[in-house]
Amino acid sequence: MGNRLSGKVVVVTGGNRGIGRAIAERLADEEAMVVVGDLFDERSPPVSVERLAFMCLDVTKETSVRAFVDEVLQKFGRIDVLVNNAGIIVHKSIDEQTVEDWDRLMAVNLRGPFLMAKYVAPEMRRVGLGTIVNIGSVEGFMVNPWHTAYAATKAGVHGLTLGLSVDLGPDGIRCNTVCPGWIETDLNRSYVELHPDRSLVERELAQLHPVGRIGSPKEIANAVLWLASDESSFVSGEMIAVDGARTKKISLPSILDGDYRAKLTKP
Ligand code: NDP
Repeated sequence: MGNRLSGKVVVVTGGNRGIGRAIAERLADEEAMVVVGDLFDERSPPVSVERLAFMCLDVTKETSVRAFVDEVLQKFGRIDVLVNNAGIIVHKSIDEQTVEDWDRLMAVNLRGPFLMAKYVAPEMRRVGLGTIVNIGSVEGFMVNPWHTAYAATKAGVHGLTLGLSVDLGPDGIRCNTVCPGWIETDLNRSYVELHPDRSLVERELAQLHPVGRIGSPKEIANAVLWLASDESSFVSGEMIAVDGARTKKISLPSILDGDYRAKLTKP
């Protein structure tokens, strides 16, 4: 498609599916060499194709992160862009939530980006240039019911972004966060499926967005591409919502919001 990342080596965590896969493919389209790190568990990673390599990584484990970073450096020589995308969610009230749920969410969503940054930053510092893009969430600013722990991890990612941008800025390393709104992936499909009338949920979801629809993984990937490229060279420490203005509209009782919602319903 283009050559905006020509010569760059990019790491995308959790890039085997969903938003991470869209990011990996979009950045590879711009001539980056993209290394996807994902769990793969007992499965062997998919065979690498041109510009897209797959390696085992568990972002929660320091030994795994260190081994992964070493292997990327050994095979590709450098890391210019780190995309911290791997994430999980739990829908439970605070009473139902267990300490294990809390610790697991924190480990994947917050310790993961910290560990990745910790081990990638020295390499970026050596070169004197680098970009970290975290995937946060609009739930770092606002929250859905039963997402207390998830929202806490995402607010943590936003805080991590501020800290990394300040600490690593003098080394030529930028750090920003893309905060997706509702994006069509497996992660929130399970949420939609809690209700038997899926099409009703989808229609109502669309109406919550001033643009009249939910987002696609590609639309997150395009924002990540901009932050990963030199086109955003003076942007650091930012949380950028990509959410079709959902978080910009103040909610109204549906009885007063009817005309506006009707306008958003596609025939
Ligand atoms: P998916 O569940 O579709 O994909 C998540 C990926 O992360 C999977 O490939 C998963 O692997 C991988 N992963 C999970 N745990 C680990 C781990 N310990 N180490 C390495 N990889 C891991 O999620 P999405 O694509 O929807 O979400 C991607 C990011 O976007 C997350 O951070 C999420 O919080 C954020 N986000 C998503 C939104 C949405 O609407 N979808 C909205 C806001 C933010 P496996 O397949 O083995 O489970």
